[in-house]
Amino acid sequence: MPTTSATNMDTLLSDIRTFVDNVLLPLEDDFREGGLSAITDGLREAREQVRANGWWCPQMDEAHGGMSLSLHDFGRLSEVLGRSPLGHLAFNCQAPDAGNMEILADHASDMQRARYLDPLLEGEVRSCFAMTEPENAGSNPKQLSTTAERTSTDDGQAFVLNGHKWFTTGADGSAFTIVMAVTHPEEDNPYQRASMLIVPMDSDGLEHVRRIPIMGEEGEGWLSHSELKFHDVTVPVDHLLGPAQHGFSIAQERLGPGRIHHCMRWIGICERAFEMMCERAATRELSPGTPLASKQTIQNWVAESRARIDAARLMVLDAAKTIDDEGARAARVDISTIKFFVADTLHDVLDHAIQVHGALGVTDDTLLSFWYRHERGASIYDGPSEVHKSVVARRIFKQYGIKL
Ligand SMILES: Cc1cc2nc3c(=O)[nH]c(=O)nc-3n(C[C@H](O)[C@H](O)[C@H](O)COP(=O)(O)OP(=O)(O)OC[C@H]3O[C@@H](n4cnc5c(N)ncnc54)[C@H](O)[C@@H]3O)c2cc1C
Repeated sequence: MPTTSATNMDTLLSDIRTFVDNVLLPLEDDFREGGLSAITDGLREAREQVRANGWWCPQMDEAHGGMSLSLHDFGRLSEVLGRSPLGHLAFNCQAPDAGNMEILADHASDMQRARYLDPLLEGEVRSCFAMTEPENAGSNPKQLSTTAERTSTDDGQAFVLNGHKWFTTGADGSAFTIVMAVTHPEEDNPYQRASMLIVPMDSDGLEHVRRIPIMGEEGEGWLSHSELKFHDVTVPVDHLLGPAQHGFSIAQERLGPGRIHHCMRWIGICERAFEMMCERAATRELSPGTPLASKQTIQNWVAESRARIDAARLMVLDAAKTIDDEGARAARVDISTIKFFVADTLHDVLDHAIQVHGALGVTDDTLLSFWYRHERGASIYDGPSEVHKSVVARRIFKQYGIKL
């Protein structure tokens, strides 16, 4: 993708930062108290402004209505949007839709583009991605139990799906899901057993069991994670996405860029939490004239947070540049490194920001508790931190002649 010039990018980021501060941040109080349904009108108006400004779907190329940014530049933008929980949604680049758009743009047939990709790009519908199963360790996705059996029906060839998924983010209210299912169980190579299928959420036999409560909050719509069951769900054979048996290779394609998106969004959250921490430390007085900021422990947290956030940003942007220049494979270890490092940074910064706020920090009167709940999963989804650390360590020990 073309690189936007540094000056243009700086201006763009500054304009978008102003938009986030002036249009999205004012919606946050109602959002904190009433969730997404409390800001339907405000969010719709914000999305209209984003479109009018030419900022819609910034992660996509211009042919798909986006901005044709490099991954490096989109990463910088993702940080600015991450300052608000509403940023990515307002710009139509929220997970998992952004990843689904990319997969569909690369692999969808003409029918699939017209029926599924175009409405997603337009922001008329949302989608979800159903891979993880409660009965199987998601860290080793080869163990999928959900099946999609090819069969003949009165209407022609079809796939019949049976299985159980959970943590399908945003399934509540989605128009369709992309499902990873075993279509070729006989295949020796476990990575070639699964395929991706597009399944409309209103299909007969697709049971939306529940929105899974996360630390007491079940959420709604895009901000929820669902449990789904597939009981003989039948989709026409033309709902296979990409070639059969390529489920894992297609999933792999989205993981590198997806992790850059997440990491930069987390850095945006870190910056916002950092500002809140500093503001509180500067204004909360332990006694007249003695702000929290005068205490060395607080100073340490502030200094360490500053250093970690800056280091994290440089690491992620460096990985993004490698992907832009040499492809995701060349950045494989870098991507694992940033995934656990930035997740740990996020947890550290949020925890310190909460601690500095004292009791206020654990209430829902600030966004800190929202992020604490919603982002604890950062070191679990898209590969748990332990798995990423082992990728990094394996590469290092290889240089010492040890194969792990
Ligand atoms: C907020 C959130 C959103 C999600 N959204 C989606 C979604 O939209 N679609 C979807 O399909 N899935 C989604 N997931 C599921 C996610 O992908 C899985 O949770 C993840 O792959 C881990 O699988 P698991 O939960 O089964 O944990 P397990 O595989 O059971 O692992 C449990 C723990 O074991 C440890 N562990 C695992 N492997 C190793 C190892 N090799 N070495 C050392 N320790 C290890 C780790 O600490 C890990 O956390 C989401 C999860 C969360 C938390």
